[in-house]
Amino acid sequence: MQIILYGTRGSIPVCESEYRQYGGNTTCIFVRVRDCIFILDAGTGIRNLGKELAKCKKTDCPNVFLGFSHFHWDHIQGFPFFLPAYDNSREFTITTISREAKFKNVKNIFKTQMRKEYFPIPLEKMGAQLNFLYEDSDNFSVDSINITTAEHNHPGGALSYRIEANGKSFVFCTDVEHGNSYDERVLELADGADLLIHEGMYTKEEMIDREGWGHSSWQQAIEVAKLAKVKKLIITHHDPDHDDKFIRKQEKLSKDLFDDVEFARDKMEINI
Ligand SMILES: [Zn+2]
Ligand SMILES: [Zn+2]
Repeated sequence: MQIILYGTRGSIPVCESEYRQYGGNTTCIFVRVRDCIFILDAGTGIRNLGKELAKCKKTDCPNVFLGFSHFHWDHIQGFPFFLPAYDNSREFTITTISREAKFKNVKNIFKTQMRKEYFPIPLEKMGAQLNFLYEDSDNFSVDSINITTAEHNHPGGALSYRIEANGKSFVFCTDVEHGNSYDERVLELADGADLLIHEGMYTKEEMIDREGWGHSSWQQAIEVAKLAKVKKLIITHHDPDHDDKFIRKQEKLSKDLFDDVEFARDKMEINI
């Protein structure tokens, strides 16, 4: 399983020079298993991913699925700039895999996002065939790849994903507020994962006056990784006010608390 992080910033993209080491694009993760591609979230990182994907022949990547943790602005704002969606020879399946999904009509979300008041080209005029698939289940399988989702705590609701293939497992959990205990649904989903990408937007100290904002500290991400006994942890959804120097310092501190931990950078690639 190949995983590439195209966007690792939380809330809003940043482009100043002191943010370039970790990167400024909002959330977008590319996952490839054989000829199946899963794109998780369409933050501004999807623009660069789209340019890469546009170079590959349709026959090299026949199955492309898009899934979403949730639809807050920083997780969808790149979608209108996803180049392959303007290619009428391509086809994408936009999925909602959850019994408890708050938003079942995802088409409506993107239709609204691309209304002429907000964007010049409407959804129907993009060109590619966009199939909207609602699975009224927490599981979805395609070509021996299993996807499981779990709802977690975030204002408006959000989903964590577990993707399993070839005996390996990857879990993605962003925009989650654990509160004083750890969300059991996340711990269960992440149990024994080879790779966990978990948000850690704030520091432990910053969390004190950010109750109800829907996020975690990086120290909480480490605690989840320990409790769920995951092998490797990547911390993502960096606060747009945390520059490279600040994140470097937190990353150094994190390595005293967990063996295999890194802070996410745009274009980081992991193979499991
Ligand atoms: Zn977010
Ligand atoms: Zn959010």
